[in-house]
Amino acid sequence: MGDRQYQVCTNCVMDTTDPEIKFDENGRCDFCDNYYNTILPSWHPDEKGEKELKAIAEKIKVEGKGKKHDCIIGFSGGVDSSYLAYIAKVKLGLRPLMLSVDTGWSIDVANENIDKLIKSLNLDLETIVVDWKEMKDLQAAFFKSQVPYQDTPQDHAIFAGLYNYAAKHGIKYILTGGNYSTEGVKPPQEWTYLNDIRMIRDIHKEFGKQPLRTFPLCGMFKYRIYYRYFKGMRVIRPLNMVPYHKEEAIALLERIWLESL
Ligand SMILES: [Zn+2]
Repeated sequence: MGDRQYQVCTNCVMDTTDPEIKFDENGRCDFCDNYYNTILPSWHPDEKGEKELKAIAEKIKVEGKGKKHDCIIGFSGGVDSSYLAYIAKVKLGLRPLMLSVDTGWSIDVANENIDKLIKSLNLDLETIVVDWKEMKDLQAAFFKSQVPYQDTPQDHAIFAGLYNYAAKHGIKYILTGGNYSTEGVKPPQEWTYLNDIRMIRDIHKEFGKQPLRTFPLCGMFKYRIYYRYFKGMRVIRPLNMVPYHKEEAIALLERIWLESL
């Protein structure tokens, strides 16, 4: 940025095209630093993780006794959430409700995958359909605002739809497909604002044309404080506690589907 001299990390491919990047005295970047000092120590796709995950699953089962579902999984039809459904139901014996938020942008292959997985693993699916007029209006407002992270309306709807649904229906445990194996080591800077509903409302007020009546919204206060401490909601990331390799997961899910036919 500006007249900063070009520099590339001595350990990875990151360079000064990220204006916020920092390097230590050995030329190693802060993405690497975050990976070695924060992610690696808390990432256990091994016996330790397995033990921890089993203990969590037992707790979920005990607390979910008598309820139709003991946890909820945000479900996109992608590999992460599909493999997570397999781990939850088959490996851990949980009774997850699969929740899909349809923002109107879904592609056919994702819908097909959702259908196949629900059938082959015999799961229950709930779908929240976001009002397309509101979705379009908010997206158009974001285009006009020219902020960098244009996918905010969709990503926020998926996030808020899931947490608001869980809170409303008294489901305490949220299992997410978020993981270190297939996702970035550090999210882009713009994601900081992903759930900033003051910003979302402000952009909509400035450029939107019609009120957001049903669009799923959930601010950080509600998510971090109210849902967590008053509703007791817990977010679990099981894919960081099991070995997870995308290609193997796809092959396994395909096998399960074929065997279910
Ligand atoms: Zn690096």
